Amino acid sequence: MSPSRQAHGCAAVQDRRRAGGYRGLDERAAERGIMASAATVLEVPAGELTSALRRSPRSLDRCARHGLPADGHVDVTILAPPRPRGRLYRLIFPYSYLEDVSELLSGARARTPVTGWPLCVRCRRRSRWGRMLARTLVVTGLVGFVGGLGAGLALRLSTGQYAPTWVMVPSLLGLALMLLAAVAVTAGRADRIVRAETTRDGARVRFTDPHPQFADRLRALLGGQVLRSDPTDQPVAG
Ligand SMILES: [Zn+2]
Repeated sequence: MSPSRQAHGCAAVQDRRRAGGYRGLDERAAERGIMASAATVLEVPAGELTSALRRSPRSLDRCARHGLPADGHVDVTILAPPRPRGRLYRLIFPYSYLEDVSELLSGARARTPVTGWPLCVRCRRRSRWGRMLARTLVVTGLVGFVGGLGAGLALRLSTGQYAPTWVMVPSLLGLALMLLAAVAVTAGRADRIVRAETTRDGARVRFTDPHPQFADRLRALLGGQVLRSDPTDQPVAG
């Protein structure tokens, strides 16, 4: 492609992006060719998605990530990402992760509940593995944690002296395993697997690099409410 034609192509893409409309798969593919490095992000109003799927729960029949036929439909809560923070801030203030957890547990983080969400066989397998791994980590961690404390207590009671430090090792390992379970839970979350997330203000749901077959179904369900968004607005789960 000549430089002038390429420049024209980029200008055309900019115009379409400014228009903010979702223009169809052919154009999208062309845009991807020109802007190969940019992720495609589609967004829909969160409330409309929830109510459309409540009216017809199985109307989406393709997986958002792979485009494969749905192997099953599940109820999913599409979560907003944690508050964006710089890597340096995370390093300096490790407690910021605890803030994320408290925001999640207190329900302060925006979320979009949807019914009858399509998952293909690959996504379901990944979700099952994540849940199974999380359960295994929690149970093993709990056994280590309680076992270590129990052994320490038993030694203290039987000898009348403080238990040696190594007795705490199983407890600390158990605690670490239970914390790791949170990572497995996140990895097995359906919304995370299909790369969907609610925006921080709770108004919209975004799909990163959705499969064209899924994008078609989404457009059939919500029509002109499916828009392309600027992927640089907000970090998106991968
Ligand atoms: Zn899939």
